[in-house]
Amino acid sequence: PTTALDVTVQAEVLKLLKELQRETGMAVLIITHDLGVVSEIADRVVVMEKGAIVEAGTVREIYKNPQHPYTQKLIAAAPGKGAMHEPGARAEPLLSVRDVRKTYGSFEALKGISFDLMPGETMAVVGESGSGKSTLARALLRLDEPDSGTALWKGRDLFALSPAELYKLRRDLQMVFQDPTQSLNPRMTVYQLISEAWVIHPDILPKAKWRERVAELLVQVGLSAEHMSRYPHQFSGGQRQRIAIARALALEPQLIICDEAVSALDVSVQAQVIELLDRLRREMGIAFIFIAHDLPVVRDFADYVMVMQQGQVVELGTVREVFDTPRQAYTRALLAASLSPDPDAKAGHLASVPAEAADILIPKRSH
Ligand code: ADP
Ligand code: MG
Repeated sequence: PTTALDVTVQAEVLKLLKELQRETGMAVLIITHDLGVVSEIADRVVVMEKGAIVEAGTVREIYKNPQHPYTQKLIAAAPGKGAMHEPGARAEPLLSVRDVRKTYGSFEALKGISFDLMPGETMAVVGESGSGKSTLARALLRLDEPDSGTALWKGRDLFALSPAELYKLRRDLQMVFQDPTQSLNPRMTVYQLISEAWVIHPDILPKAKWRERVAELLVQVGLSAEHMSRYPHQFSGGQRQRIAIARALALEPQLIICDEAVSALDVSVQAQVIELLDRLRREMGIAFIFIAHDLPVVRDFADYVMVMQQGQVVELGTVREVFDTPRQAYTRALLAASLSPDPDAKAGHLASVPAEAADILIPKRSH
């Protein structure tokens, strides 16, 4: 029930559930793929695979001493345990964003956003829903025109390009959305979905090579060549997201903006997709703007983290700076609300969400 929610709203909902349970003595059966939620709320866990229970026990037994290979895999896949990236020296930015503003009527969705992104670097963008993350992504690609500001792409201002110039440059900047069911046309085969990129940008690849290249791309994202004649509904959510990534790769981009691209996926599928993105980054030097509400995933994947609140950047630093020594109360509250699957780390979570967190995190809105 909390999968699609912000960590902070999730923390509120789980707190409420626990309170109700204490007051009324009701039993709760909670179905989730999030091990952090399990550790926070459950006494006992049953692990299911392919229609059968493969393991059952207390949270501690399951987490500390998983017996079944599937449980072991699930626990190993939980994000937030790897080494943090130490980004290298910064030189010529690939993208240099200054003072981007966007209003909807009288509502200021972006109040002057600035940051730099180097080639091959990953900038995570976090913040509760409504903070302006998707608006920023759309503004950068001019899917929704910003009101003012500049976004220098290798020195050229994306916001000042003519439609024809923008059209040419678009192939360098691709976007992967949260919900592949909505971003992939259900009436097109995988072959059509991926090769559509070359219909739009014919100079990339002659038509005779399309089948071969689609097959290559499918293998590259962990699918297989036979999949090209299928339709999106014939795939699982994780596979569909791989198709969306293959489609972005077809244009050989230098920057991919992922807007909550792994948020809807199961932990183990999510780990596989992150691994895929990580490989693309290493092998092809692709830069990422990685919008996510899942902080453990960000911790494992990002070089830099930008924290947004109400259309503003409230904190920006390396992943280590932001996670180890957050400077803003807002960032600390966000981190405290993020759940760990480790039952021993539990005391450090919901209990330690600062009392004022709800006020910091769920501000009174003027609109
Ligand atoms: P996030 O992605 O961080 O959840 P969004 O960028 O989607 O947030 O939205 C930021 C704010 O802008 C929200 O308050 C949202 O309601 C508002 N907003 C976004 N798109 C529009 C729109 N097309 N018209 C009016 N308001 C919008
Ligand atoms: Mg969004």
